[in-house]
Amino acid sequence: MDTKYIFVTGGVVSSLGKGIISSSLACLLKARGFRVTIQKFDPYINIDPGTLNPYEHGECYVTVDGHEADLDLGHYERFTNIRTTRANNITSGRIFQNVINKERHGEYLGKTVQIVPHITDEIKRNVKLLGKTGNFDFVITEIGGTVGDIESLPFLEAVRQLKWELGDDACCVHLTYVPYLGAAKELKTKPTQHSVKQLQEVGIQPDILVLRTEKDIPPEMRRKIAQFCNVAPDAVVQSADAPSIYEVPVRMHRQHLDEILLRICNVNDAPEPDMEPWYKFLNHMVDAKEEVTIGLVGKYVELQDAYKSINEALFQAATYNDRKLKLISIHSEQLHEGNVEEKLAPMDGVIIAPGFGSRGIEGKFVALKWCREHDIPTFGICLGMQCMVIEFARNVLGLRDANSTEMQPSTPHNVIDLMEEQKSVTDMGGTMRLGAYDCTLRPGSRAAQAYGSEHVSERHRHRFEFNNNYRAAFEEAGMKCVGENPDTHLVEVVEIPEKRWFIGTQYHPEYSSTVLSPNPIFIDFIKTAISFHEEKKNN
Ligand code: GLN
Repeated sequence: MDTKYIFVTGGVVSSLGKGIISSSLACLLKARGFRVTIQKFDPYINIDPGTLNPYEHGECYVTVDGHEADLDLGHYERFTNIRTTRANNITSGRIFQNVINKERHGEYLGKTVQIVPHITDEIKRNVKLLGKTGNFDFVITEIGGTVGDIESLPFLEAVRQLKWELGDDACCVHLTYVPYLGAAKELKTKPTQHSVKQLQEVGIQPDILVLRTEKDIPPEMRRKIAQFCNVAPDAVVQSADAPSIYEVPVRMHRQHLDEILLRICNVNDAPEPDMEPWYKFLNHMVDAKEEVTIGLVGKYVELQDAYKSINEALFQAATYNDRKLKLISIHSEQLHEGNVEEKLAPMDGVIIAPGFGSRGIEGKFVALKWCREHDIPTFGICLGMQCMVIEFARNVLGLRDANSTEMQPSTPHNVIDLMEEQKSVTDMGGTMRLGAYDCTLRPGSRAAQAYGSEHVSERHRHRFEFNNNYRAAFEEAGMKCVGENPDTHLVEVVEIPEKRWFIGTQYHPEYSSTVLSPNPIFIDFIKTAISFHEEKKNN
């Protein structure tokens, strides 16, 4: 079978969940036995989202090969269990950079370099890059932004050309919004019609429409939309608000979205999707009646997407433990000794979030001291782990001025320090220690027990590290360095074995947690939080 290219575009408004629809489609196609990958094309000029703060673009996701990527790649992995790489996320910046580099190398010698055909050709080349490996039956390409944006135009022109060239090896799924007007008590289809018209104006006829809605769209309304938009009547499906994003694949399957797509792409005799493992997860979700309460201490907690992968990893772990996740956001800037007890006492477990810079850092120390002294299951991730180390140095080792040189370059006790290879780095973009590295865990440690293994590989995104000069002092005082990189001896995991569960990881285990393969350390953390909850209840 030739590789099929599915394009997912969006109209009317942003934030419709193109990533979830793309992921759901991939999930269904994979369950039918196809080899699938998803890629995201983002129309902004940044080379990657690594330099964007969470206010701009939510969480920065990291791939195994060390690419700082759009958070939608996190959804792709969580829904499909398939690893993405640098090739799965392309921005306008990268497209322009490639074209300009080629121009400087003289590859277009004599020619005027233009948006069409040079930028569009570079986009097309990148769209097909993964397909050309021969490793995939379906390449799903999500086009970021909204139809009508100036920035998206070169991407849409590339899609138009590809659809023309590829015939039924290409298909366009367009996502729109059908608003409900409370005053008129009516769902409105006009924005969808306008959005499809805009797509048609740039020469793209969508094959499938997915309508985002807060209310059920009656069949006659869907037929009307089909008629106005030149789309087959059954190829207009709705995506109503779901209680969980993980229900979307099933909802799409019930409306035959995958079947329609296969028909449009001329794929016959595809096996039915085997969604058994997925249903198993959903059943856990339904069965989960009791709650597990986890406090997330961070400085971006008011942003829905800032800690996306952590939220999802916790949710998956809670679900497999048959518990509803009650995630309480605790703003680290507002946490102090006067309110820490009131804020943290109701928690069954506490996560200290990753981050950069000193804003909110003192609140993290206050939280950690309280959690350590009250033996609360506590999980520090990246900066959260570094804060665990600093708090321990200050309050247990008695090194009052201990700090990270990120926060205080002149600290006399630099228990967290800039990594050697970072000292000569001046560029900000893509220069951290990024991607998956091996970690060896001490036999018998809580972390090794949690993973059921002494060898793990997890993803990183940091410049600072545990200062090995202090290792012996920490070990002696009870904070053990139980995980290290076998080549560089960088400390990857610390824990206090005498506590219920007090573990910090320099890496981000949340990035590798998926629906069908949840991360074991999150599972173990939630398990401990649940038994702590039971213990509190019985006392
Ligand atoms: N700012 C810290 C560092 O660069 C931690 C980074 C993080 O939490 N991702 O090492």
